[in-house]
Amino acid sequence: MMSYFSDIGNVCWFLEPQLSDAIKRLHHTVGNAVSEDRYVVVGTGSTQLCQAALYALASPGAGVAEADPISVVCAAPHYSSYQEVTDFLRSGLYKWAGDAYDFDKDGPYIEIVTSPNNPDGAIREAVVNRKEGKLIHDLAYYWPQYTPITRPADYDIMLFTFSKSTGHAGSRIGWALVKDKVVARKMIKFIEVSSIGVSKESQLRAAKILGVVIEGCQHSASENFFEYSQCLMAERWEKLRDVVKKSQIFSLPKYPQEWCNFTSKYVESHPAFAWLKCKEDTNCEGLLKAHKVLTRGGERFGVGKEYARISLLSQGEDFNQFLERLSGIKTTEQGIR
Ligand code: PMP
Repeated sequence: MMSYFSDIGNVCWFLEPQLSDAIKRLHHTVGNAVSEDRYVVVGTGSTQLCQAALYALASPGAGVAEADPISVVCAAPHYSSYQEVTDFLRSGLYKWAGDAYDFDKDGPYIEIVTSPNNPDGAIREAVVNRKEGKLIHDLAYYWPQYTPITRPADYDIMLFTFSKSTGHAGSRIGWALVKDKVVARKMIKFIEVSSIGVSKESQLRAAKILGVVIEGCQHSASENFFEYSQCLMAERWEKLRDVVKKSQIFSLPKYPQEWCNFTSKYVESHPAFAWLKCKEDTNCEGLLKAHKVLTRGGERFGVGKEYARISLLSQGEDFNQFLERLSGIKTTEQGIR
C-alpha cells in the first residue's frame, strides 16, 4: 500500500487488481459494456481519463500532423467541461472546435460522444462520421438508474466513473475500457506524468463498494442498488413532470420507452439532470435564480439561454424544495428576458 505500484505485471501498473476485477464483474452483471479483452485504465475521475484520451489520440505517432493541433468536437448541447479541459493548457496537440454538427474542416479530428448526454439525457451516436475521426465515448450515465440498458456498449475508448455509477464523486475514481494497447499505454503514460497513478485508498474503497453493489444485484430485488435507484429516479421524474406540466413556462425533453436488459422491463430514461426549456427569449437560468434555484444556463453547453440544467441527484429534502420553488414560478418576469 505504500508503493507507487499496484500490479507491475499489468499494462496499467497503478491499477489495483481488486478494482480491475470489480469493474469487469460490474459490467458483466449490468450488461452495459464489453469489458472482456479490454485494457482497464484507472484515473482520478473520468475527467483525468478524458484528458489522457485526448493526449493518446493526438500525441506524436498517433498519425496526426504535428504542426496542426487536432480539432476536438462534441455535438451541442455538450458537457461544459470538455471545452475547458481541451483548451485550458493551450495544448499544441489538440484544440476545441465546438459543435460537431457545425464541423466541416478536412483531416483528422476527435469527437467526444456522450451517451446518455449531459445535459439533456439523449442517447447519442457520433455525428461527424468521417474515417479520419477518432472517438471517445463518455458513458458516465449509461447505468440502469438513468436509462434502459439496451446492449453492451462496444467502442474503442469508453469512459465510466464511480461519480455517476454509484454517486461516489468524492473518491475521484474513473475508468476507461480501451481496445487498443498502444492507446492504453499512452493514456497510462499521461496519468504517470500528471499524478504518478491513482490513490490506492480510493481504488480499494471503490472495489469494496462495487463488490457490495454486484452482490446485491445477484440477490433479492430489495438489495439491488440499481433497481432501487431506478425507482427513486422514476419517482422524481414523475413529480418533476407534474410540476412542469402545470407551469406553462417550462418544458422538458421526452424520452422513449425501451426494453432494459438489466431490469427486464420497458422503461424510459430518467436522466441525472433536468434540461429545462423556457419560452423563447427568456433567460432560464436568470429566471430560476430569481426564485432561488441555482442552475447552469444553456450557453455553457453551446446552446441558447432559454435552456438551463438542474441536477436531480440532490438529497431528498433539497429536491422537494426545488419542486416547491419551481411550482411557485407562474409567469416569466420582467427583467429576466
Ligand atoms: N463526463 C460527464 C458526462 C459528466 O457529467 C461528468 C461529471 N459531471 C464527468 C464526465 C466527470 O466525472 P468525474 O467525477 O469522474 O471526473
